[in-house]
Amino acid sequence: MAINPTEPYDDENIFAKILRGEIPNKTVYEDDHVLAFHDINPQAPHHILVIPKGKYVSWDDFSAKASEVEIAGFVRGVGHVAREAGMVEPGYRLLANIGHDGHQEVPHLHVHIFAGKPLGPMLM
Ligand code: IMP
Repeated sequence: MAINPTEPYDDENIFAKILRGEIPNKTVYEDDHVLAFHDINPQAPHHILVIPKGKYVSWDDFSAKASEVEIAGFVRGVGHVAREAGMVEPGYRLLANIGHDGHQEVPHLHVHIFAGKPLGPMLM
């Protein structure tokens, strides 16, 4: 079910549990600002999720409330993951679903990285 991006942060959401180590994940990369791990239901040959470590429901509150350091750390973390995975030359796609119409299901900000084949035009 899609979430409301203005709802308060839910400490029991699945990505909060992953960050606390309560649920296993296939970690790709971790630093002070981000955790990157394989999506459990991949939609492309490579499908990685990158999440900030701070408690942000969506791009909406992250862009409004996160510090410059957190924002820079997140943006750099996403780029680092794609570079380290060798995705830059063949190319990749970033996607963030926000709120109900964006069909966001997990209420902790995440960016999807898709790669591993020509992805074709965006389908709306
Ligand atoms: P959203 O629609 O942008 O919120 O996407 C949530 C994503 O989280 C989906 O692609 C799910 O497959 C993925 N997901 C849900 N639970 C887990 C998990 O426990 N590990 C890894 N990925 C997950």
